[in-house]
Amino acid sequence: MRILQAVSEFFPYSKTGGLADMVAGLSGALAQNHEVTVATPLYRGIREQFPDLEAIGEEFDLPLGNGKFTGRWWRHQPSPNLTVLLLENDAFYNRPGIYMEHGKGYWDNPERFVFFSKAVARLAPDFDVTHLHDWQTAIVPMLLKEGAGKGTTRMVFTIHNLAYQGACDADRFALTNLPAKLFHERGPEHFGSLNFMKAGLHYADVITTVSPQYAQEILTEEFGEGLSGELQKRQDRLTGILNGVDYAEWRTQGNPHLAAEYDSGNLSGKATCKTQLLKIFGLPNQDLPLLAVVSRLAEQKGIGQMVEALTELLPDNQFQFVLLGSGDEALEVVLHQLQAAFPAKVGVKIGYNQSLSHKIEAAADFFLMPSRFEPCGLNQLYSLRYGTTPIVHAVGGLKDSITDIQNPEGNGIRYEKFEASELITAIQRALKLYRDSHKLNQVRKIGMKQDFSWPIAAEKFNAIYAQ
Ligand code: ADP
Repeated sequence: MRILQAVSEFFPYSKTGGLADMVAGLSGALAQNHEVTVATPLYRGIREQFPDLEAIGEEFDLPLGNGKFTGRWWRHQPSPNLTVLLLENDAFYNRPGIYMEHGKGYWDNPERFVFFSKAVARLAPDFDVTHLHDWQTAIVPMLLKEGAGKGTTRMVFTIHNLAYQGACDADRFALTNLPAKLFHERGPEHFGSLNFMKAGLHYADVITTVSPQYAQEILTEEFGEGLSGELQKRQDRLTGILNGVDYAEWRTQGNPHLAAEYDSGNLSGKATCKTQLLKIFGLPNQDLPLLAVVSRLAEQKGIGQMVEALTELLPDNQFQFVLLGSGDEALEVVLHQLQAAFPAKVGVKIGYNQSLSHKIEAAADFFLMPSRFEPCGLNQLYSLRYGTTPIVHAVGGLKDSITDIQNPEGNGIRYEKFEASELITAIQRALKLYRDSHKLNQVRKIGMKQDFSWPIAAEKFNAIYAQ
């Protein structure tokens, strides 16, 4: 099969979160059996990282309403069956951020991603399957079904996070250059606004999301982000498939980011990783349990509630906490305040750092994921492989992948309600587990031996594509 993936971030070319990892892992696994092309924007810094990009075809113009914008595809070939096409338009993509700067989204994100979607729609008719990801490419099925260039390509749309819908003013619909009558409730119109995500839900042939539990949750008002009704209409076409992990990247042996190697048979190298990390964060090494977070700083991730819980626990309990994250500037301030209040116990680094995220995963004893909602979550899966016990709010993919240690096959600590008091109890249970080294080792080994690798998940996409 010839498969086109279209995505706004793709690891290792660009990444802000799990989306980039997911499409990279899926595409790599699919390329074992299929011819896979991935289309993604050419952001700042990619050229420097991949100097051997090759221009494909001529420059082309695409209309956005009354304006005309020029694009060009550049090719990179990481493996024989995997082609990466990077869309050049410097005004749109050669910027310091991918979606935002200083915590604020670019005002012209609709223009940037309608342009990208239109360029993808030109490619799509050559493929058997076109797989779109999140709101940034969600209008491609509408462009293809309602516009010119109709082909036989079948379109799969994956929701990675329903909270980001690309909602904007109705007048932006003109950017699509489609007839105004299509701006309709049965399509991209949502309470008077243009909603990219809704267009995807309406026009795609199949909808998937990134865990079975989240597929259930988004049908409810609580998690449906205003689109549960639309999703219910298409429920027969909606499937949840848990994301996989690229274990060639996320590994505890031969990993250039880590100070020492270890595996489930011998965990001693993990202690070396912890010693190194405490130095990086400037924290004293006192053989205390280490809790960690690597996260986008967004409301969804429950960071505010976690700071509340930690503020209560830190005075009377012996443990340390480190966090790497970036995003919401108000959350950064709160985290810096926590650090200032407990300088020997708390380390905070604001920024985006892939190498440090590996070091944290390896060094920590427990990895906190107190998300209000979590479509899949990847860090808990990375944590399992790194022998780092996840503490999670049982929601979305966290619920699908983490079993509480009350069960014989438990791999982590779960709590049910999104409340600081429940998180406090969960952390207290973790501190108790730390004191029981026999049980702790058992829990770690269960997690390290679990297999969430991509070939298993990719098989499920194979079945959908084949249909
Ligand atoms: P989301 O996609 O909602 O951000 P996921 O858990 O699915 O959450 O994926 C997050 C991915 O992004 C993980 O690979 C995580 O390590 C990475 N990540 C998030 N923030 C940072 C950061 N500040 N530095 C490095 N990696 C980060």
